[in-house]
Parts: sequence; structure tokens; C-alpha cells
Amino acid sequence: MSEFKLTGGCLCGNVRYTITKPAIDTHHCHCSICRRITGALFLTLSIFPRDAFTYEKGKTPLSTYSSSAKLHRNFCKNCGAHVTLDLDAYPDQIWVTTGTIDNGAHPGHPKEVYRHAFFTSKVPWLEIKDDLPKVEGFK
Ligand SMILES: [Zn+2]
Ligand SMILES: [Zn+2]
Repeated sequence: MSEFKLTGGCLCGNVRYTITKPAIDTHHCHCSICRRITGALFLTLSIFPRDAFTYEKGKTPLSTYSSSAKLHRNFCKNCGAHVTLDLDAYPDQIWVTTGTIDNGAHPGHPKEVYRHAFFTSKVPWLEIKDDLPKVEGFK
């Protein structure tokens, strides 16, 4: 069996990470906070076990913005890329912006993507024509 490994990072390369276990979840988040903070119409997030995630040593110029009291978003201080999220409610998880995984690699779980989250917050003119579940909240 080959070892599971993903690498990724921000646009400028100052933030780099390695992941050694498959994600447990990937979803497209349509909430207004993810939209505003990325400038994109939705943000794709993958959830990994925290013990499988490491930042490359000596290259972690992250700044953190807490978009709510218990949800902390980490950005590269240099290029501004949104790389990870820490949620107080899930200390054993790290949420990774899926688009920062190198070469568009899949996060490793059996499904392509699990669902569209906060679908009722989607911009009204964006048409989503896939067969994924479309849920009102996170799940
Ligand atoms: Zn950067
Ligand atoms: Zn969101």
C-alpha cells in the first residue's frame, strides 16, 4: 500500500503544508462569509484530521482573522491566500481551502465532493447543475 500524501500552499510559496491522511469531508460553502472573504462565489473546503496536517517548518507567516468567535481563518501574510481554518468546536480537525492543494489533487475521500453547504445563501444567479446534495446549513 502506498502512503497517502498531499502537499499544498499559498500562491507565493511562503505557506506550505503536507497532509498524510485523506480528508473526511469536502463541500462547497456558499455562505456569505466565505464569499466575502475570498471574493469567489463559493469556497470549497476539505476537512482533515489535524494529526495528519503539518505546516512546513520555518515558513509559516500566517495571519489569522476570526470571522466569528469560534472560527479562525488563516492567511498567508505575504500573498493573502486563505489556506486553513481552525474551528474551536472541532479541535481534532483542520479545514483546508481545497484549491490550495497542489496540482488540483483530490483530497482523498471516496466521493468527489459531498455537498453544497449553506445553499440558501448562494448568489441567486449562479446555476448549479450537479447532482450533489444541496443543504441549508453545514450538513
Ligand atoms: Zn503566500
Ligand atoms: Zn462558508
